Amino acid sequence: MSSDAIDRRAVLAGTTALTAAALMPKAASAQGVAPANSSALPKRGEFVIRGAHVLSMDPGIGDFESGDVHVRDGAIAAVGAAISAPGAQAIDGKGMICMPGFVDTHWHHWTTFLRPVMRADDPKKTYFPVTLALGAHYTPDDSYRAVRLGLAEALSAGVTTTHNWAHNVRSPAHADAEVKAMRDSGLRGRFAYGPAQGMPNTQPMDFTDIARLKRDIGKDPMLTLGVNSRNIDGNNASRGAIDAEMAKKEWGAVRDLGLPITLHTNGSASIQLLNDANLLGPDVQLVHPLNTKAADWELLAKHGVHYTTSPLGESGRSGEMQFIEMMQAGVLVSMSIDNVTAERCDCFACMHMLQTINKHRTGGKFKLTTKKLVEMATIDGARDLGFSAIIGSLTPGKRADLILVRTNAPNMGDIGDPYDALVQLAQPSDIDLVVVDGRILHRNRQFTALDYRKLLADGAQSVAELKKKAKWS
Ligand SMILES: [Zn+2]
Repeated sequence: MSSDAIDRRAVLAGTTALTAAALMPKAASAQGVAPANSSALPKRGEFVIRGAHVLSMDPGIGDFESGDVHVRDGAIAAVGAAISAPGAQAIDGKGMICMPGFVDTHWHHWTTFLRPVMRADDPKKTYFPVTLALGAHYTPDDSYRAVRLGLAEALSAGVTTTHNWAHNVRSPAHADAEVKAMRDSGLRGRFAYGPAQGMPNTQPMDFTDIARLKRDIGKDPMLTLGVNSRNIDGNNASRGAIDAEMAKKEWGAVRDLGLPITLHTNGSASIQLLNDANLLGPDVQLVHPLNTKAADWELLAKHGVHYTTSPLGESGRSGEMQFIEMMQAGVLVSMSIDNVTAERCDCFACMHMLQTINKHRTGGKFKLTTKKLVEMATIDGARDLGFSAIIGSLTPGKRADLILVRTNAPNMGDIGDPYDALVQLAQPSDIDLVVVDGRILHRNRQFTALDYRKLLADGAQSVAELKKKAKWS
């Protein structure tokens, strides 16, 4: 399925959200604690953000040094200077940047609560050995709790859409648990259904269940479904090492269902294997643009393949991050968090790292403006996931996914260019307001619809049980 086709489906589905809004209960207070389920999500109200430095990320609308954004029933009603919005609640945006929420395009939320088990300086306790050992014992409840924690961090850091790259789906109940966590959190996203950790390479994924989940998610205006593939290039076999025949079988089954597919890569081998098997296409997102060649970039551009780069993790791997060469070749490149066990969710730091890596590697040979970096983190991410018709820019008619970033903290005081400030100065603690589909889910550094302490306690209980089951010391 093309990303346009997915967009059209999302737009049509989005219309149902307006009527669903009337069924939502009264909003939780900014300081209050609400039970962890979707019925507790705040209502989509009507409000107008006034006097913010608005970065619409829509070239047809442009930016406003002092502008207003009017939100009604989950959608952006108007963007401009001095908007008339009688009856709308006013939110003071002075001294803040108003922009689309960040769009993460690859994140293994199921690993989130494993942080306390890891040690950066002990090779036996880094990300891969820990997730493999404990991941084999996850119950559906564990999956739910870990994903809730990951999504909570996303929200607090201004991420309003995520690509939940679930490569430990151990049963249909595990898939349902991860999807429920996404629904209960109120974020928008794609759920990328994957295999269980440790699944034999000769065993195909459960396409009967993927088809079942497609029917379920197809009715949900906030979510779409995709599939993540096991590794195919022999690199990092701990995450699977299927051969070309299994890849053809599985990727064919994914395409029969009309779903997009995503794959971790490290170098040319997987790109060449996919090309030889005629599997490259615009429904493919590859992850980690490392160790590739010019011939690969041409193939990717020719077939409309997307790439996502996770700068905080990738910069610690061997080989060069070649996102800029791919972009020069015409490949859509978006930005992702990957995991928050060994890294943090900080889209500002990710943008800054891409800027500095480009300068470090190429000496500025390839132009990469701060505005383009903000595009990569917003509208290009929406394009990658097929959501660009409904989010990714502050465009009237699109769904209201947006954030306010304060510019008066010591790290930001008296900014110049707002794009420079976002890339080079801002940090997640500057985020004052997070809105997803017109719901205010985070404000004044507080969650409005979840009890973070409870999520944390539940996660700790899961980790204690997983350590026992895995005999982990
Ligand atoms: Zn990954």
